[in-house]
Amino acid sequence: MSGTLYVVATPIGNLEDVTARALRVLREVDVVACEDTRRTRALLTHFDIHTPTVSYYEHNKLTRGPQLLRQLADGKAIALVSDAGTPGISDPGILLVREARAAGVRVVPVPGPSAVAAALSAAGVPADRFVFDGFLPVKPGRRVNRLKALRELDTTIVVYESPHRVVASMAAIAEVFGEAPVVVARELTKQFEEIVTATAAEHLARLKAGEPRGEFTIVIGPGVYFSGL
Ligand code: SAM
Repeated sequence: MSGTLYVVATPIGNLEDVTARALRVLREVDVVACEDTRRTRALLTHFDIHTPTVSYYEHNKLTRGPQLLRQLADGKAIALVSDAGTPGISDPGILLVREARAAGVRVVPVPGPSAVAAALSAAGVPADRFVFDGFLPVKPGRRVNRLKALRELDTTIVVYESPHRVVASMAAIAEVFGEAPVVVARELTKQFEEIVTATAAEHLARLKAGEPRGEFTIVIGPGVYFSGL
C-alpha cells in the first residue's frame, strides 16, 4: 500500500494564518519533511504538535528524496512544508512531488498562505491574470533583460526579493518601467507590514535612505493600469 504526500502551506509570518486542516495533517502524519527543521519545529511546538521532522532542502533533496519515497511506498503519510508559505512556490519540493506522483503515490495539497497571493490581494492592481516570476536574476545584465521581456507581456508582474538585493532590483525596475506605479509589499502579515504604491524611483530613494529590512514582494501593474483604466 502506498502512502500519501501532503503538501502543506504554512504561515508567511503570522501564525494565526495556519489553517485548521494544516494543523490536523501536521499532527496526524508520520513525519514532516521540512526545509529547516529548527524553523518548522518552532511552528509545531507553538501548536503543541510532536510529529518527527526530517530535513528536505535544496542540497540534500537528491539523497533525502529517495528515502522519503521509500517511506511513502511503505504506506507512510508525509507532510512536506517549506520555511514559510506554499512549498514549491520559489521553494524546494517540486522534485519530491513529481517523483511521488510518478511512483503512483497520492499527493494532496493543503493550501494556505503564499506571499504572491497575499501581495496581489492587497496591491489594488488587476490580478485576474498576472505573471509571477519568482526571484529576478542576480546578474545585472540578465536582470534588466528579464524585466524587459516581462514588460513586453503587458500584464501584472509579481517578483520576490531579498533585502540584500532589493535596491539593485528596484533600480533595474526603474530603468525598465520608468514612471510606472509599483507596489512594494514588505513583511506581509507581520508586525511591520507595509504596502506602498509609488514609482520605482520613489521606492528606490526610500530604500536607499535606510537599510532595507525584511521580506519583499514587488508588484508591477500592467499598462492598462498605468493609464488609469
Ligand atoms: N513559498 C513561499 C510562498 O509561498 O510565498 C515563498 C518562499 S521564497 C524562498 C521567500 C520570498 O518570498 C521572500 O524573499 C520574499 O520575497 C517573499 N516573502 C515571503 N514571506 C513574505 C512576507 N511576509 N512579506 C513579503 N514577502 C514575503
